[in-house]
Amino acid sequence: MRVFKFGGASVKDAEGIKNVYSVLQTAGYEDVLLVVSAMGKTTNALELVIKNYFDKSAELQSSVQEVKKYHNEILLDLFEDENNPAFAAVNTQFADLEYFLAHNKSPNYNFVYDQIVSYGELISTTVLSHFMTHMGIKTQWLDVRNFVKTDSNYRDAEVDWDLTKKNISKNVKGKILNITQGFLGSDENNFTTTLGREGSDYTAAIFAYCLNAESVTIWKDVPGVMNADPRYFENASLLNQISYREAIELAFYGATVIHPKTLQPLQKKEIPLYVKSFINPLLPGTSVAKGADLEPYLPCFIVKRNQLLISLSSIDFSFIMEEHISEIFGLFHQFKLKVNLIQNSAISFSVCVEDKFGNFKDVNAILSKKFKVDFTENVTLYTIRHFDEKAAHTVEENKTVILKQVSRETMQIVTKES
Ligand code: ADP
Ligand code: ASP
Ligand code: MG
Repeated sequence: MRVFKFGGASVKDAEGIKNVYSVLQTAGYEDVLLVVSAMGKTTNALELVIKNYFDKSAELQSSVQEVKKYHNEILLDLFEDENNPAFAAVNTQFADLEYFLAHNKSPNYNFVYDQIVSYGELISTTVLSHFMTHMGIKTQWLDVRNFVKTDSNYRDAEVDWDLTKKNISKNVKGKILNITQGFLGSDENNFTTTLGREGSDYTAAIFAYCLNAESVTIWKDVPGVMNADPRYFENASLLNQISYREAIELAFYGATVIHPKTLQPLQKKEIPLYVKSFINPLLPGTSVAKGADLEPYLPCFIVKRNQLLISLSSIDFSFIMEEHISEIFGLFHQFKLKVNLIQNSAISFSVCVEDKFGNFKDVNAILSKKFKVDFTENVTLYTIRHFDEKAAHTVEENKTVILKQVSRETMQIVTKES
């Protein structure tokens, strides 16, 4: 079996969904499992619904209506006949969502988040599978929550591999186009869980691993994995092939084209990963495989904006010892600050972190009792894999460099835009 993943950008409107059909015509759809994300920016729109729900905002109803309207317009563009069962199926999904909003009693934000945000994928796959059926492709819609089992760590659930393997190998049948949701799972009480934002690539890898799939293809709005995000670098070039190792490194440092958790299950079973353009499905794209040399060999750039550079020094000139470091990291972990770079000297310790949840104030209050804390907000972290002088110059030009770290293959530069 082959696993194909279609992300939000590929199904953002009726044209996109029709294009998925034409990609399938080109790439084949027999013995294929499609893993599909929510349409366009639906996950963000549902996050607004969640916020309004918790804020008890008067905007709650209108934010739900927005999501409904968006999907309804897509349905109207796809099916001339409003009696097509797709309309009723999507209505049922929205009715379930509204029932949840009206009856939920749980105050647990993360739990509620997952129960609501999951409708993005449930609805997108409902639309897509009705459309494929409409176009004459024999399709089976699978509720991923019957397959991917996780713990109850809502919003960032951990996969229970044994159960998941059992479910998938027993119940996913080939010879037909299977369509399922990315990003979602369910816990032991069958409540919906999610695997972390952008987690649909990971879902594709989970299925591929459990099915011993022939390959995974993730279809993107870019020609493949490039040596930089083409949104920020004008001269980004396509990488024809890279190794799992290189892909893991790029994803780890923040190349958002592949979700970092995707590579490990694939690498374990040496299942090749193709990253291809859904606009030009005949182009070869990037192939990620074992030991594949980076080709062409180019410096690769990764940009992370909105970082926070924190420098801690000891108040009394004592060394920053292991126990301090483990305490500092414990705090970062507890407050969900993601550490992207570390630099250590005798009496000072610097880290570049991402404070996604706005917790730094609390962390700072605790740290300030023991250390002198300096910090710079809104810095940018550049990572250059396979750097050379020219590549470093491209990054440093017209910027104030406040920290630089060099290892054999990788240079990291923290800048303040000037
Ligand atoms: P999806 O629709 O699957 O969710 P994403 O938007 O998450 O797709 O990922 C595709 C985007 O990743 C591209 O539009 C591109 O801007 C960005 N991107 C970041 N780094 C790279 C890179 N090294 N190569 C290609 N694209 C990249
Ligand atoms: N829809 C989810 C998100 O936007 C998962 C994904 O697209 O991969 O984060
Ligand atoms: Mg995405």
